[in-house]
Amino acid sequence: MRIDLHTHSAVSDGTESPAEVMAQAARAGLDVVALCDHDSVAGWEEAREAGKAHGVEWVPGIEVSARHHGTSVHLLSYWHDPRDAEAEAMIAKTRDARVHRAQAIVDLLGQRYPVTWADVVEQSGGAVTVGRPHIADALVARGVVADRSAAFTEILRPGSAFYVPHYAPEVVDAVRTMRAAGGVPVVAHPYAGRAGAELPTRVVERAAAAGLVGLEVDHRDHTAEQRARLRDLAASSGLVATGSSDYHGAGKPNELGENLTSPEAYAALQAAR
Ligand code: AMP
Ligand code: FE
Ligand code: FE
Ligand code: ZN
Repeated sequence: MRIDLHTHSAVSDGTESPAEVMAQAARAGLDVVALCDHDSVAGWEEAREAGKAHGVEWVPGIEVSARHHGTSVHLLSYWHDPRDAEAEAMIAKTRDARVHRAQAIVDLLGQRYPVTWADVVEQSGGAVTVGRPHIADALVARGVVADRSAAFTEILRPGSAFYVPHYAPEVVDAVRTMRAAGGVPVVAHPYAGRAGAELPTRVVERAAAAGLVGLEVDHRDHTAEQRARLRDLAASSGLVATGSSDYHGAGKPNELGENLTSPEAYAALQAAR
């Protein structure tokens, strides 16, 4: 069983439609795939149908933007009820804040580079959740940088003069809200924060008490040493250790299935539903 529990479509900052992601997953020989667009479930129907068509078990997921103090934390959640009013309100507030934040970044960029809000709207296509990758694409289209990665390292990273944060709920509150909505929350890439900002152990423990079920351990942004420490932390906190690709289509080098979740870990997530 090849299980990849973290992928993105063009509903957020991936480059392929939800159906294309599922088709690629079948080609990559995956058996189980979760679609986890940032702050949106808009791809669920399409991915569900495509999963059936391609014989891939599709898992409904989301990557909720959260914070711990000032630092960004990403929270994966599987199987929550998309009609849950509290979860939807929390997620919609972040989606809305992302638009204003992207406009603020473009206002700053416009003083220095030939980039406009119309460029970003064009690059984001049908995306429901706007993010810096769409601004990066606008910079690429204008010839300012070569690709998304260069846009991030040269211009869009936190600490840059062009960086603006956006509202997001505290991670422990996000865990509680997604759990109450029937979700199975797993912290995404907990040690992949910028400038070595690892999510502190005491926050993981508070999140576990609030209903956190797992930690994403095997992810390309973690070193072998970080994976070993995270695996120990998962074991000592009673959390499930997962692994995944964080696939973004052509938007990132990540390949489907490059990291996997074991069948035992997947069964433990299902048992927590
Ligand atoms: P935002 O959601 O606006 O905060 O932007 C964060 C997103 O940008 C992440 O979800 C990644 O998909 C993407 N990202 C972050 N760093 C890079 C990078 N170096 N190259 C390409 N994409 C990146
Ligand atoms: Fe992303
Ligand atoms: Fe993430
Ligand atoms: Zn992701």
